Amino acid sequence: MVRVIVTAAIAALLTSCSAPAPKQQAEAPTRMTKTAFGKTTAGEEVELYTLKNAKGMQATITNYGGIVTSLKTPDRSGVYDDVVLGFDSIDGYLKEHPYFGALIGRYGNRIAKGRFTLNGVQYKLAQNNGENSLHGGIKGFDKRVWTAREVSGSEPVLELTYVSKDGEEGYPGTLTTRVTYTLTDNNELKIDYLATTDKDTVLNLTNHSYFNLAGDGQVLDHEISIAADRFTPVDAGLIPTGELKSVEGTPFDFRKSTPIGARINSNDEQITRGKGYDHNFVLNGEAGSLRQAARVKEAKTGRVMEVLTTEPGVQFYTGNFLDGSLTGKGGKVYAHRTGFCLETQHFPDSPNQPKFPSTVLKPGAEYRSTTVYRFSAE
Ligand code: BGC
Repeated sequence: MVRVIVTAAIAALLTSCSAPAPKQQAEAPTRMTKTAFGKTTAGEEVELYTLKNAKGMQATITNYGGIVTSLKTPDRSGVYDDVVLGFDSIDGYLKEHPYFGALIGRYGNRIAKGRFTLNGVQYKLAQNNGENSLHGGIKGFDKRVWTAREVSGSEPVLELTYVSKDGEEGYPGTLTTRVTYTLTDNNELKIDYLATTDKDTVLNLTNHSYFNLAGDGQVLDHEISIAADRFTPVDAGLIPTGELKSVEGTPFDFRKSTPIGARINSNDEQITRGKGYDHNFVLNGEAGSLRQAARVKEAKTGRVMEVLTTEPGVQFYTGNFLDGSLTGKGGKVYAHRTGFCLETQHFPDSPNQPKFPSTVLKPGAEYRSTTVYRFSAE
């Protein structure tokens, strides 16, 4: 009897051992990895998130300033290179730098004299660009630690949230901003912005990536087209005069693809004021609908970047203030005009320019904006 039980037990054990193993779930490819990036000067720990799409393109973003630290895209032979300027370690980003890759808020570009009036109240902002306020003030969104969350889905999505206190950098209202970075399988870095406020306020969010589609060198040979019949000329302090000027017959006519450097040293007064291109273009088509703003091509690598946006404007900035004093990733020296920015936006100084599209956000309403940087090679 005992022997029967033991034998049965052994048989049962053998059966269980030889039973087919449960089917392994096909493992989902890792689309996002998180690594430590170090500490801010205040001692807050920040991370790097690397998003990878099905084709192999990679975007790395830190929750410090929502900065895109690296963007690896293929050239025409499938060779990947990093097409954005930045630093290898957090130290570079903690020191003064010209907003490499950063999320800009509350207000992209300049507000004249750091002042504006809303509902009869004058607000005084932090002045950090002569008498003007630039890119959100002294400690803008580019220098804040955002709360990061990986959103599940087939494509990698990083969600960043930042709550800006009422009065921060002089702006009214508690502003809750949520930015999602999606790396699509169509080789697009898509940025969706959403914000709400508890008091009337103004805002203009953007991303300040500096691109170089060759991965290195000056960007003057890159060819660019911008879908804009008009631009907003500026005064000596780079504040819009209020005019929407036709690009026809000016160095600002990029309706046909033209090398960035073709007219950059012309003696046109607007060019000399900007020390090159540092201007807002009034995009054709309807603001609010996602449409093409610009297309850039680099002939040697064949890399192409298209920019689509729902915003009414784009700041085309040609890295005129880069002067070789910053050394970035892999020891690259960022010399004059080694990167260009296409900052999709509402027009600079809109809170003081009644004829420009409004940048006012009211409680109960949602600020929504989308920009896509799409990469290909030909
Ligand atoms: C501005 C430039 C400025 C640069 C870096 C651009 O958006 O238009 O004037 O120098 O950002 O701060």
